Amino acid sequence: MDATQSLSNQSFSAVYGPVKSWRYGKSLGIDPIGMVSTCSFNCVYCQLGNIQKHTHQRQIFVPTNQILSDLQAIKNWEDINVVTLSGSGEPTLALNLAEILTAVKTVAQKPVIVLTNSTLLGDDTVRSALKWADIVAVKLDAISSKQLQRVNQPVATIDLPNILTGIEQFRQEYKGYLAIQTMVLSLWKPEILQDYIQFIQHLLPDEIQLNTPSRPRVLVRQLDARGNNIKPSSNYICQQLRCVSHEQLSAIAQKIYNMTRIPVRCPART
Ligand code: SF4
Repeated sequence: MDATQSLSNQSFSAVYGPVKSWRYGKSLGIDPIGMVSTCSFNCVYCQLGNIQKHTHQRQIFVPTNQILSDLQAIKNWEDINVVTLSGSGEPTLALNLAEILTAVKTVAQKPVIVLTNSTLLGDDTVRSALKWADIVAVKLDAISSKQLQRVNQPVATIDLPNILTGIEQFRQEYKGYLAIQTMVLSLWKPEILQDYIQFIQHLLPDEIQLNTPSRPRVLVRQLDARGNNIKPSSNYICQQLRCVSHEQLSAIAQKIYNMTRIPVRCPART
């Protein structure tokens, strides 16, 4: 039985949560990708497990009408701080991204966030769709090609210069709040930290979110992995990743702040 078949008994809703987010409070999740996890990266720490469809091809995965009707079924809006597009892969792969964002903004009347891996920011239509989001958090885990291959495992056509250029283009055009989200898996060499700081000084994002993997990583695709429902005690087969300590992450955050004066947020110690 493959991972897709193992999901065949689960019913799909494009809306999940609310999920408790260290960055945004109670966040209602919107999944524009669907049952099959689909992404242009296959990050070694991805909480979805191994990505099932590794692609940069955009398509409509979940029709906007389905997302709308799942959203309209939500009753407890007072419990929700923000709505976040993320889910089962890279949300900018959804060709109906602009339509989804405008529909969600109309129904939810809450700040709308998109978490993206940055690989499609070189595409005009993606950047134009993202203008509907109040906050866009763009992933930047790697500042060297070697690091990108090791941590994010992109599809073959994606390289670091394209990602960095896409992020720069987006910074110039986007009027909303731009966060850089960076996952730190191990202590960075001084030259890596220096290159990262230089890029940040040039980009001037509104904030940096520094994190380290804390959630168990499922080894077989589970729809539950979209939120933060996977606990070490769950019945799923999981991998707990080794990561840097809270003190080490805070020390990196302090260095970045000292050199850039851009707010750097890290999760609270657990
Ligand atoms: S970009 Fe996000 S969804 Fe894609 S593999 Fe990495 S962590 Fe998973």
